[in-house]
Amino acid sequence: MTHPAQPKASHFINGEYVEDTAGTPIPVIYAATGEQIATVHAATPAIVEQALSTAKAAQKEWAKMTGTERGRILRRAADIMRERNHDLSVLETYDTGKPLQETLVADATSGADALEYFGGLAGSLTGEHIPLGEDWVYTMREALGLCVGIGAWNYPTQIACWKGAPALACGNSMVFKPSETTPLCALKVAEILIEAGAPAGVFNVVQGMGEVGGALVTDPRVDKVSLTGSVPTGKKVYAAAAEGMKHVTMELGGKSPLIIFDDADIDNAVGGAINGNFYSSGQVCSNGTRVFVQKGIKEKFLARLAERTGNAILGDPMDEATSFGPMVTENQMNIVLGYIEKGKEEGARLICGGKRADMDGYFIEPTVFADVTDDMTIAREEIFGPVMSVLDFDTEEEVVARANDTEFGLSAGVFTKDFTRAHRVIGNLEAGSCFINSYNDAPVEAPFGGVKASGVGRENSKEAIKHFSQVKSVYVRMGDVEAAF
Ligand code: NAD
Repeated sequence: MTHPAQPKASHFINGEYVEDTAGTPIPVIYAATGEQIATVHAATPAIVEQALSTAKAAQKEWAKMTGTERGRILRRAADIMRERNHDLSVLETYDTGKPLQETLVADATSGADALEYFGGLAGSLTGEHIPLGEDWVYTMREALGLCVGIGAWNYPTQIACWKGAPALACGNSMVFKPSETTPLCALKVAEILIEAGAPAGVFNVVQGMGEVGGALVTDPRVDKVSLTGSVPTGKKVYAAAAEGMKHVTMELGGKSPLIIFDDADIDNAVGGAINGNFYSSGQVCSNGTRVFVQKGIKEKFLARLAERTGNAILGDPMDEATSFGPMVTENQMNIVLGYIEKGKEEGARLICGGKRADMDGYFIEPTVFADVTDDMTIAREEIFGPVMSVLDFDTEEEVVARANDTEFGLSAGVFTKDFTRAHRVIGNLEAGSCFINSYNDAPVEAPFGGVKASGVGRENSKEAIKHFSQVKSVYVRMGDVEAAF
């Protein structure tokens, strides 16, 4: 019997499901059991061509609609997503393995927030009037044209919406390629947009590995590429886009610092460290995986952290009581277990976890290492799994310098009751998305993105509009033209 997660076909182009079984089969594995639940096929060159030519053709008419009309469609799509939140969350859990307890509140709901927010903004996108005496300049905010979105595997619904909603609000069309690891959810986003009234071809989904992504990025018809992925992939995609002088948004990896001062509320700080390391089993780009704890509270912090981490419920992700799911794939699990071994070898002190959980599926116990030093592999490289490194520090000056000593710059957090210090420290940290007495909140109203190797551009908020549109300026002369001859 066909599994309920199996989509009708692999791709969604020009308003309908499209199949081409000549493409390489991509198995979809449910991470909680290892069972194959669906198969899709990578896009063949013919499918890539169909998607790009469709999106190119659809964009002009879409951009001619008023922003209010486009926004109404996006807001209708948001309503449909919310109505179907339960089914979409179940699919998200099949796609990623993340527990339903999380997917019910963080995926289709976050996608719907983006559709609603950018739908609301669409009618307000205007240029300005710049008076110059008798003459004047006016500006127009125009769409970029055809945009490509490429997703990572941790938030397949959210990433499709965070890219698709602002792109469409500005009058662009999009071809979206989900991660080959989680190909299912973006198809539902495409389906819902059509149901909400989006013209066929405005939002298309094609499947495939890096090769398909590469074919999309290098196509001369494409005006913009928005990637969520790792730094090495980001470097390749950025370079390929530069060749064609295309706009980019790069949402890449991180190794973010979470700084906890002696005066912090211990339970809030522990809660922040748990949210910043163990949500989605640690598969979150902005995670605060280098937890710097001031020496005075170190042992108290570690004791409370170990106690609360012990309350994580590993189990069937479809059971709403389960609060901690598996790694997305066996391969990812093995990479993370390799880092755990490195942590032990290099002398970090294991506080809890540290091994694969004794159950089916790709579960790793939430793991905390203490006495981690700046040069250890687990403190330098992005692990993308449930491994928290706790490092000690003495002074504010020292911790800021150490926190910034990394190629990454996605996020940063500080826990302290001293608000002057909190703002000063955040002001000195090299990171794009920061938190004070909190960690990992990502409301659509707030800009999201990194500095240094963690990325270029911002998603969400009004900032995203700037990255999916461009300004045309028009000088208007009222009098005669003066010329030298
Ligand atoms: P990845 O870099 O392996 O792949 C990301 C996407 O790029 C996939 O769809 C992949 O098929 C595609 N791709 C690979 N090579 C390509 C190429 N040469 N040309 C075009 N496309 C190509 O990343 P992943 O393993 O799927 O995701 C994990 C990474 O993503 C982590 O580093 C994580 O930090 C990062 N991430 C960042 C954010 C953010 O918003 N900053 C969010 C989630 C994940």
